[in-house]
Amino acid sequence: MADHDVIVVGAGLAGLRCAADLVAAGREPLVLESRDRVGGRVWSHRFADGQWAERGAEFVDTAHREVLALAEQLGLELSEVRCGRDVHQRLLDVGGRTARFDLHHSLDDDLQRFDEAMEALAALVDVDDPAGPGAAELDDLPLAAVVDALGLSLMARVVIGRDIRSEYMLGPDEVSQLMAAWMTALHLRSEGGFEGHRIVGGNDLLATGLAAPITDRIRLSTPVAIVEPDDGAVVLRSGERLTADHLVVTVPLPVLGRLWHDIPTELSRVGYGVGGKVIVQYGRRVWRDQGSDGSVRTERAWGELWETSDDMPGDRGVMTALLSSHDGAALLTLPDVVDRVVAEVERLFPGSRGLAGERVVADWTDDEHSLGAYATFGVGQLVPAWPLLRRRHGRMILAGEHTDEWCGYMEGALRSGARAARTILGGDAC
Ligand SMILES: Cc1cc2nc3c(=O)[nH]c(=O)nc-3n(C[C@H](O)[C@H](O)[C@H](O)COP(=O)(O)OP(=O)(O)OC[C@H]3O[C@@H](n4cnc5c(N)ncnc54)[C@H](O)[C@@H]3O)c2cc1C
Repeated sequence: MADHDVIVVGAGLAGLRCAADLVAAGREPLVLESRDRVGGRVWSHRFADGQWAERGAEFVDTAHREVLALAEQLGLELSEVRCGRDVHQRLLDVGGRTARFDLHHSLDDDLQRFDEAMEALAALVDVDDPAGPGAAELDDLPLAAVVDALGLSLMARVVIGRDIRSEYMLGPDEVSQLMAAWMTALHLRSEGGFEGHRIVGGNDLLATGLAAPITDRIRLSTPVAIVEPDDGAVVLRSGERLTADHLVVTVPLPVLGRLWHDIPTELSRVGYGVGGKVIVQYGRRVWRDQGSDGSVRTERAWGELWETSDDMPGDRGVMTALLSSHDGAALLTLPDVVDRVVAEVERLFPGSRGLAGERVVADWTDDEHSLGAYATFGVGQLVPAWPLLRRRHGRMILAGEHTDEWCGYMEGALRSGARAARTILGGDAC
């Protein structure tokens, strides 16, 4: 006889959604969370003046139906993201020169050719079954091969390479064409609403809102050390062993590899993006003085910069630098990373350094609870892993963004949690 009906490992959006749905159906799940807070990779920072920033997930697309529905249910407001929309206000920092994006006329053709190539690949993928028939061929090729085949200008390669690193948190040679085609198809579904919104007050209101009615079911600061799928058991770091009829395990795959001693190789080798964010609040939005909205893409290791507070009131402005891929992840480990970012912002927007105030660093690779940003399937990884992500292993069901069609998004996390709950409630095959 098991100690519990259902044990959910992880109180990120996936685990919370699953637990909340089970409670709504009259079940009594126990949620075990290693951190002292809920939300996982959705973790907002609040500044004293009421502005906020996101260490992890920031943008909500119009096609993120579960996120939008949850926001509505919780009475949360959505803002409209404006930064990065206008090529006249966006900057490109390449080859030691910073210029407005629209002044690089020669880029247009190359960027369009790349978009068309990706759209053609996206048409080959079924977003609802990314590992379906014909997928293996694309899975065995790196995204870099698409870029190479187009014979693009050096400038276009830099810009596209940066976009790929920002999107997948890994370089073009480490992303499978299938992964990129699948994500492109998802973005096409967003119909212009890609990265269109933020939750006013902070995205982690989604997590705290989901958790509020079920707090008595959640044990924080309770790290699981071992999962034993066949026995439906977890061993806590404290040594306590708990059993359940169903385990729902939502931790990212690099973490799962440490907990599940017999994890199949197909799962343990799945790639994860690396890096994180440096966030700085400035006393004034000094970038606007020079007609910029603060959006900059660079070939340097700090990657990409944008104004996170573009939809927020107040004199101050919050800049986010997304340090992605290996150069960004390496930069993040330096003790003076914030000073370096502040110095780079000063180079781009003179006068900003003296206005730099509160700073936040989020390194998701060097975080034992996530060990990476989000799943980015590399060459030959998606097709073998997908069926294993979607089926039961003994008494264990896997959930989390990495198990869903909306992989890498809050939407995927919520959908996966709901699917795990449906499976347990008997209404859905795993
Ligand atoms: C830098 C960055 C930018 C992003 N940008 C966006 C974006 O703009 N839009 C978007 O939609 N998504 C974005 N995402 C992705 C989004 O954050 C994730 O897809 C989503 O939050 C994943 O939720 P989850 O529940 O699957 O996993 P998690 O949130 O990681 O939840 C897993 C939980 O398990 C816990 N855990 C780990 N180890 C243990 C253990 N041993 N025992 C018990 N518990 C454990 C963790 O602490 C965590 O709370 C971004 C992510 C990052 C890192």
